[in-house]
Amino acid sequence: MIATITLNPSVDICYYMDSFVINDVNRCSNYIKTAGGKGINVSKVLKSLGSEVIATGFLGGSTGSFIEEELLSMSINPSFVKINDATRNCIAVISEGKQTEILETGPQILSKDSKSLMRALENILESGKVKVVAASGSIPEGLGKDYYNELIKIAKKKNVKFVMDTSADYLKESIKVSPFLIKPNINELENFFDIKIKSEQELKKTMQYFKEYDIDMIVVSIGSEGSIALCGDNFYRINIPRVSVKSPVGSGDALVAGMVREIDKDSSYEEILRVGNTCGILNAMNEKTGSIDMRMFDEIYGKVKIEMLK
Ligand code: ADP
Repeated sequence: MIATITLNPSVDICYYMDSFVINDVNRCSNYIKTAGGKGINVSKVLKSLGSEVIATGFLGGSTGSFIEEELLSMSINPSFVKINDATRNCIAVISEGKQTEILETGPQILSKDSKSLMRALENILESGKVKVVAASGSIPEGLGKDYYNELIKIAKKKNVKFVMDTSADYLKESIKVSPFLIKPNINELENFFDIKIKSEQELKKTMQYFKEYDIDMIVVSIGSEGSIALCGDNFYRINIPRVSVKSPVGSGDALVAGMVREIDKDSSYEEILRVGNTCGILNAMNEKTGSIDMRMFDEIYGKVKIEMLK
């Protein structure tokens, strides 16, 4: 079983409209509401891959209940800490080829709730069934930037591997307690070091920095260019095929899901990277975020090439 953590989930509402006029009433009959947040996207892809998933984090209010029901309908086990304030909405208006987004900040997390989540994670790991935890996304207000560190420490005490996908600010903190895998995308890596990376050589040099923090796998995703990884002492380039892209939103989450699935199976570094990138590509080929078409899996998997770099 795999556990995912989403600290600031959302009800994602997407309005599809022929026209969208500012300062006027806009009526919409074509819309969808889905459970969102990076960790939840990871959970959805893991489910498509056939993994058993337990999802945790914070949920509150009727929006929280909506997410819980959505997860149950997908056979993902929700095990969230219930908070008083309502889980946020994230709204996207898609009209005339443009996308306008309104992202609520989300609820403030109280100190008692932050402690409850630590206990919840301890309980989840108590049974010994979970071998990997994947935590994705930003940290909500009320919690310190180093909140993930507490969760990583809990997992490490139980010999559970911790996979971390978060932006530069939180990554700076969490590397101090050595998660098993980190997955910045190239922009996040540039923000981390406040530099512009111009060549593969420079990229490799920057990635070396993380080795002193004893992180097993450093995977930098580069959108349609695939990924570069530093696993153990070796660098790998993951070359991916050109595909017809519908929406790359959530491809990083799909990449994490594929890797986590293989880490759970004790697969080789090559296999972890190959399945991960296959899932990232499949997500980009799909309109829906956190959704992959398993019928295409073998074909895409066959076209992902892993090369060990000198
Ligand atoms: P993030 O969503 O975190 O920014 P990326 O955009 O780098 O992550 O995507 C993660 C992975 O998904 C990439 O390494 C690649 O394997 C795949 N991917 C992303 N965008 C595309 C694309 N346009 N075409 C094919 N594959 C893609």
